[in-house]
Amino acid sequence: MHILVVAEHDGTTIRPGTLSAVGFANSIAEKTGGKVESLVLGHDIDSVVREMARYTPVLGCDSSALANPVADRYAKVIADVASERHDDLIVAASTTYAKDILGRAGGLLGGAMASEVVGHELREGQLVFQRPMFAGAITATVALLGHPQIVTIRAAAYEAPRPADTAFDTSTVDIDESSLPNHICFEQVESKSSDRPDVTEARIVVSGGRAIKNSEDFERLVGKLADQLGAATGSSRALVDAGIASNELQVGQTGKIVAPDLYIALGISGAVQHLAGMKNSKVIVAINNDPDAPIFDTADYGLVADVYEIVPQLIEKIHAG
Ligand SMILES: Cc1cc2nc3c(=O)[nH]c(=O)nc-3n(C[C@H](O)[C@H](O)[C@H](O)COP(=O)(O)OP(=O)(O)OC[C@H]3O[C@@H](n4cnc5c(N)ncnc54)[C@H](O)[C@@H]3O)c2cc1C
Repeated sequence: MHILVVAEHDGTTIRPGTLSAVGFANSIAEKTGGKVESLVLGHDIDSVVREMARYTPVLGCDSSALANPVADRYAKVIADVASERHDDLIVAASTTYAKDILGRAGGLLGGAMASEVVGHELREGQLVFQRPMFAGAITATVALLGHPQIVTIRAAAYEAPRPADTAFDTSTVDIDESSLPNHICFEQVESKSSDRPDVTEARIVVSGGRAIKNSEDFERLVGKLADQLGAATGSSRALVDAGIASNELQVGQTGKIVAPDLYIALGISGAVQHLAGMKNSKVIVAINNDPDAPIFDTADYGLVADVYEIVPQLIEKIHAG
């Protein structure tokens, strides 16, 4: 089986989820006797190609027309490369980037797609994939009847491989820029710069819920505890809707899906839509002043307490070491 991993990067570094996608691809290649390659798209991507070559052979496609991840162009290049190389399986981490681009590539290729895959096995020569459905209420096992297969994986479900001692080969993919679609024009990216890790990539996430009354308290309680732990901050939708936390922090069914080593929920009730985004975290700690809050059914450790009293004490204790 020929497997193509579509690498996601920020212009200088590979996103951790891509390495989990390589872990997934390697595991299938081992089972099927296949081979894995990665495709890096962008402009001035030498350092990214070099980094990726520590994990797989790399195809680098460097063009000013690909300077920004505009979905129609990227999808076209991915589809062209996959067709030309007769790839059987195209893989990426399940991120906003992949949601925008990979489905379109699948449409151009006419293959079959499964997103958010969390497990897989080979059954009588047929690959089957496990993927959560209905906000995680069920896990479906699906087989993809079509060629090629296009799969996005949840990064937390797959281990990243260790980098190889000797770099793999890299080669260049040339594209005809005039053949690229021009229906979408890149204007600008608006994002808040933060020194904290991304909520989808952090090993520890501290999330705040409706108990937090305003942005200053969010920063003083959620933000400060996160900083003490080197963690990312997250939020329930209640705080996003109230304008207290920014949209990109929302964890849940309509937010980010996270599965860190440690998830700390501060004043979050544990609505099913929130749980859909964090219940696969390795250890869940909940602090809530209502002993009957549903979050305690999911949490590994629970503390019935007022976050306004307990969190400053926690921050103080961690600071004191
Ligand atoms: C289609 C749809 C999609 C949705 N998607 C999402 C999603 O992606 N993510 C998401 O989070 N929600 C989502 N929701 C909303 C979800 O249903 C809940 O309304 C939301 O998660 C509640 O947020 P919360 O737990 O912060 O607030 P609440 O449910 O109001 O809970 C607040 C909790 O804080 C506790 N508390 C209050 N004061 C204190 C204090 N001082 N100290 C300690 N504890 C205290 C209370 O006991 C309570 O348990 C979605 C809803 C719908 C319908």
